[in-house]
Amino acid sequence: MKNIKIVFASGNEHKKSEMKLLINKNLNSDDLKIEILSLKDIGFTDEIIENGKTFEENAEIKARAVFDKTDMMCFADDSGLCVDYLNGAPGIYSARYSGGDDEANINKLLDELKSLPNEKRTAHFYCALYCVVSKDESFCVSGKCEGIILSSKNGANGFGYDPVFYYPPMFKTFAQMTSDEKNKFSHRAMAAEQFAKKVVEYIK
Ligand code: IMP
Repeated sequence: MKNIKIVFASGNEHKKSEMKLLINKNLNSDDLKIEILSLKDIGFTDEIIENGKTFEENAEIKARAVFDKTDMMCFADDSGLCVDYLNGAPGIYSARYSGGDDEANINKLLDELKSLPNEKRTAHFYCALYCVVSKDESFCVSGKCEGIILSSKNGANGFGYDPVFYYPPMFKTFAQMTSDEKNKFSHRAMAAEQFAKKVVEYIK
């Protein structure tokens, strides 16, 4: 059994365990196990300025910052909500859309979409995962999940925009799903699936 260590350039321990599960589930190999290390695990405390213009650029900035300092294979994610009526906003600014917390972000979004009919409330969550394998090798994958922005909140699970993001195939918002359910359909799950397929090509 080959055990490979990869750094996940995130301070979020919950995301780390989610990634570990999603990636190993999709590896399709009995001979390979990927161990995910967080920034905390490797003692990386530098501040990383995410000043990219796309999800991919931001993910690359984070992964490279860690690789350049540690020389360890490293990947990073960047994700957000893109609303069609708002030409893709809040997009890469999802976390800081209102300048306040999740609740304030949702309220701002609902205000922007006030009185808009259902057929125009289409949106998707997007996640880019960028991996720096070595000085000369890197790759990027992404995942997307399409849904509709409700006009009020529904459900108490999850985080961010989950209570207003309705996923039609399940007749539920992300906040009404268990984490196991969300992990089957989410943008992060889709990206992790792609990552698992791709990363095996780079592991010698
Ligand atoms: P990050 O890439 O995890 O930092 O996410 C950026 C922001 O996008 C979060 O703060 C949320 O506002 C939003 N976001 C990303 N993924 C999700 C999700 O799965 N559910 C709800 N909101 C999300």
